[in-house]
Amino acid sequence: MSVSVKVKQQIIERDGGWCLMMLPGCLGEAQTAHHRANRGAGGSSVLDHPANLCAVCTVCNGLAEDANAITRMDLIHRGLRIEKAATNEATLARAIATPVEAVDGERWYLVSATERMHVSEAMRP
Ligand SMILES: [Zn+2]
Repeated sequence: MSVSVKVKQQIIERDGGWCLMMLPGCLGEAQTAHHRANRGAGGSSVLDHPANLCAVCTVCNGLAEDANAITRMDLIHRGLRIEKAATNEATLARAIATPVEAVDGERWYLVSATERMHVSEAMRP
């Protein structure tokens, strides 16, 4: 895991402090950053980009790893899981282009470790 404690803190703040996954047993408050597209063992640091990270609690972060098909579909629908593309760069581009759904149902594009952009903002000409 090569995401620094500082970046994790920034991600948690950026995403409002709450776990975005809300799976059964969720702790509510976020403690860590989840890779939307799994970096995988020995994977490229490209996927440590803040747009590929979202705030979660430790319980959900563990559950997401071996989630069943229904949970996986739900996470994909909420932008919390990104399916891998042909390359890490293409996967990251997909993460940047896919908004995440916050606890209140609002959808945000993840820009950097400290910035997110509301979908309505992005649609303006
Ligand atoms: Zn949680």
